Amino acid sequence: MTAQKQVLIVGAGPVGLTLAMELARHGVRPRIIDQAAARTDKSKALVVWSRTLELLQAAGLADRFLDAGLRVGEARIFAGSRKLVGMPLGLIDSAFNFGLLLPQSETERLLEEHLTQRGVTVERSVALAGLRQEADAVISSLVQAGGREERFAASWLVGCDGAHSTTRHALGLAFAGETEDSDWILGDVRIDQGQAGEPVLTRSALNIFWHAEGVLIFFPLGEDRYRVAADVGPARGEGRRPDPSLKELQGVMDRRGPGRWRATDPSWLSSFRINERQVDHYRIGRVFLAGDAAHIHSPAGGQGMNTGMQDAFNLAWKLALVCRGQAADGLLLASYERERRPVAATVIRAATLGTRLATIRQPLGRILRDTLVPLVSGLPPVQHGFANRLAETAIAYRDSLLTGTTPNENRAGGLARPGSRAPDVRLEAAPGEPDTLYGRLAAGHFLAVGKAAPATQARERFEARFGAVCHTCSALGETGALTLVRPDGYVAVVAAPGDWKTLDDHLLRILGRVS
Ligand SMILES: Cc1cc2nc3c(=O)[nH]c(=O)nc-3n(C[C@H](O)[C@H](O)[C@H](O)COP(=O)(O)OP(=O)(O)OC[C@H]3O[C@@H](n4cnc5c(N)ncnc54)[C@H](O)[C@@H]3O)c2cc1C
Repeated sequence: MTAQKQVLIVGAGPVGLTLAMELARHGVRPRIIDQAAARTDKSKALVVWSRTLELLQAAGLADRFLDAGLRVGEARIFAGSRKLVGMPLGLIDSAFNFGLLLPQSETERLLEEHLTQRGVTVERSVALAGLRQEADAVISSLVQAGGREERFAASWLVGCDGAHSTTRHALGLAFAGETEDSDWILGDVRIDQGQAGEPVLTRSALNIFWHAEGVLIFFPLGEDRYRVAADVGPARGEGRRPDPSLKELQGVMDRRGPGRWRATDPSWLSSFRINERQVDHYRIGRVFLAGDAAHIHSPAGGQGMNTGMQDAFNLAWKLALVCRGQAADGLLLASYERERRPVAATVIRAATLGTRLATIRQPLGRILRDTLVPLVSGLPPVQHGFANRLAETAIAYRDSLLTGTTPNENRAGGLARPGSRAPDVRLEAAPGEPDTLYGRLAAGHFLAVGKAAPATQARERFEARFGAVCHTCSALGETGALTLVRPDGYVAVVAAPGDWKTLDDHLLRILGRVS
């Protein structure tokens, strides 16, 4: 058996790569394997949403994503050439108030390049075949391309091995849920919109066409290229439908779109069926699941990869604290499932609803939908809520084991309610130090944010005790209440000005012990 390493990551898709990159940033070098000989060359997940970009910013990678991607500022829904809905993405409460369109192949390239710079290499053509758990290790059976077998012991194993996860099967976990009965087709193609009038499709918007026959969606890919996707009616048989021809895709566009657009030069034509499934548990013993291995759903909303990458961001700092011996295997690791499972459950419900709404075929249902949706979606609070749910900036961990209950009178002046994502406030900074909260999170620590105050004994005690995992900083223009912000930017607890004991008790409870 090879020597024990701390974390084995199975799968180097976007989720496994994010986890590896984040563990490395937090000082833990994982081993990461993938059964495929090479990265995907398919565009699959196209949208990188705002919250993912914020987390990538802390990882030092957002600028490279922004340089490579295309920003879209609106999601539009049409019936024929009539515009029913224009949902402005500028309402997202983030510096990244847009959707970033980037093929998944590019997302994986950027993540892997960054990982390599951090000194971790993906081992390709290495498959997990099975695993067994012991009291202090997970023993996995790995198979190399030539068939050579290896037994590998790790302290922790994270299955990021996608929808058909070997890890999930080895744990005996059911993937409960449904398969939708419609077949879908997609094509990455060049679109010629003809000469007449203003082009309907633009590079700066997502365009959805509702039609009696089904839905037709266009995601811009850059220049005059688009991802076209459409449902094509009830599936026949159990297996995957054959990939569509360009002619078939063109036929759907002709019937459901507003004009005679011509699709040419396909780089990918494929078909898929939609599954809505989730596991009951994200952790069994020393094994975790993340990404598509734990939850899959309709691509409506473009949140599958984003939700999976955020699983990885959530787990990485917790696992790193435990691996580094700075926290116990207690509340911290238990909080991963408690926080992330409800997030994916909500995404699954919303994506299912969005898909069903878009594919209503009964005439009365369509009349109601086409009348009510424009009315409701025009209301400012609805627009704001929708944009932030899509962008995943509305995620909060209110019921988390790590979220403190703060008496009402102490909340005033805290950066945000416990469980919420902290805003990116300005901080007092020494020369060379980042002067924003998100900038300061790049160091990977908890932040105790208050107002510059006389150094009290309680504060000095807190800093002496937790200095290795928590930095204190002063927010400009705040009232003085103390806010403990987690390394992933969510508020853990809020305390009254000078009440360092509340922060002390809370951090001790989260960590279990500090070495
Ligand atoms: C057409 C389409 C459009 C989509 N659009 C969007 C979108 O716009 N936005 C969005 O957020 N999501 C979207 N998604 C979903 C997105 O592609 C997935 O959610 C995402 O790929 C999940 O990432 P993952 O890393 O969990 O799994 P995967 O990407 O499936 O990666 C799993 C990896 O594990 C490896 N592996 C599997 N088994 C083993 C084993 N036994 N041993 C070793 N390695 C193994 C595989 O080779 C693979 O590299 C879309 C999906 C499709 C199909």
